[in-house]
Amino acid sequence: MTDRLPGFNTLAIHAGAAPDAATGARATPIYQTASFVFDDVDHAASLFGLQAFGNIYSRITNPTNAVLEERIAALEGGTAAVAVASGHAAEFLTMNALLQPGDEFVAANKLYGGSINQFNHAYKNFGWNVVWADTDDPASFERAITPRTRAIFCESIANPGGVVTDIAALSAIAKRHNIPLVVDNTMATPYLIRPFEHGADIVVHSATKFLGGHGNSIGGLVVDGGTFTWAGDDRYPALSKPRPEYAGMVLSETFGNFAFAIAIRVLGLRDLGPALAPFNAFLILNGIETLPLRMQRHCDNALAIATHLSTHPAVAWVSYPGLESDRYHALARRYSPNGAGAVFTVGLKGGYDAGVKLVSNLQLFSHLANIGDTRSLVIHPASTTHRQLTDPQKITAGAGPEVVRLSIGLEDPADLIEDLDAALSA
Ligand SMILES: *Cc1c(COP(=O)(O)O)cnc(C)c1O
Repeated sequence: MTDRLPGFNTLAIHAGAAPDAATGARATPIYQTASFVFDDVDHAASLFGLQAFGNIYSRITNPTNAVLEERIAALEGGTAAVAVASGHAAEFLTMNALLQPGDEFVAANKLYGGSINQFNHAYKNFGWNVVWADTDDPASFERAITPRTRAIFCESIANPGGVVTDIAALSAIAKRHNIPLVVDNTMATPYLIRPFEHGADIVVHSATKFLGGHGNSIGGLVVDGGTFTWAGDDRYPALSKPRPEYAGMVLSETFGNFAFAIAIRVLGLRDLGPALAPFNAFLILNGIETLPLRMQRHCDNALAIATHLSTHPAVAWVSYPGLESDRYHALARRYSPNGAGAVFTVGLKGGYDAGVKLVSNLQLFSHLANIGDTRSLVIHPASTTHRQLTDPQKITAGAGPEVVRLSIGLEDPADLIEDLDAALSA
């Protein structure tokens, strides 16, 4: 092999994995163990003091999870990653490392409904204050920044509608104010968009969706871009101040460009505990091996379905950035040239009742709250994922009463179109 970096398809299969040193097993084994035996007392002491890397207990590190962590770090182009129990845990541990009580972060208003709830309600318990900005208006993020702002948060392609974020514009604002940009890359995956190439500092994922890809396990990932300078910055004491539990170690000094990932592991996983089960890491790793093939087919199928629905008489509008007429088409071509993702919304002329009827009449599409499965999925956000939001919040989040969200799977598009046509005319 030369110095040339392997391509994306190769990394998706090989990054982080080697035949098992103990057995020669070619697939990554599931290290289904809670704990790991120390070599001797000195080894144990150095592990606990963070002087040596190694396994202590599967809440903190696990060899199966470590392969997943290295793989996503390679695919995103980050310095290190941490696998956690869910996408929400990834967001929570990220904010826990960045915010103190009384601090703020600016978040894009077009987000996964669960993230909106988490930010508006649960985070209040920690004294973390979300300030909302308009995904479509980067200047609104800058206006929302105050001396207490510790991060900007957005999704690359935003849930539930096909919204594409101008990541580079948000990164320019974040850099001007010297705060990190956190990008939830769940809907795009690194196959479509690699946020670090556009100036993001931290990437989070719900691995439950397209990375795992088969609708069979909940998981999350935090990826450190290694780009933000924490050292000497009093606003980020978790990274820049001596840690009493580690004999005064300063994480940013000891771990440099992967200090954020270390903070997620030793202050997040160790103390707060949302660890990923190694069995789920195994399933997500298997999913990632075919990510490039699956994402391309997801995108191709989604474009075919969106094109068909855009001329259907029962459909008022289709919000899919892959369509040339879409308002996000130019951003999609710039940020996501391989395709515009597989999740999009349609507005039905018949409003709320038509949305409820469509989800009830579809046969091949499953009516459920998930995205990024091999199977095609459908949901009516106003009556389900986004029902806790007020009506105006629903509309700004792209989840008004007439909106139905589709996550297009890997079936034959002709069968999906037949199912949709039958359900819409029923
Ligand atoms: C699903 C999802 C989450 C939450 O992830 P879980 O794995 O369900 O906890 C966060 N962000 C986005 C964009 C999602 O789609």
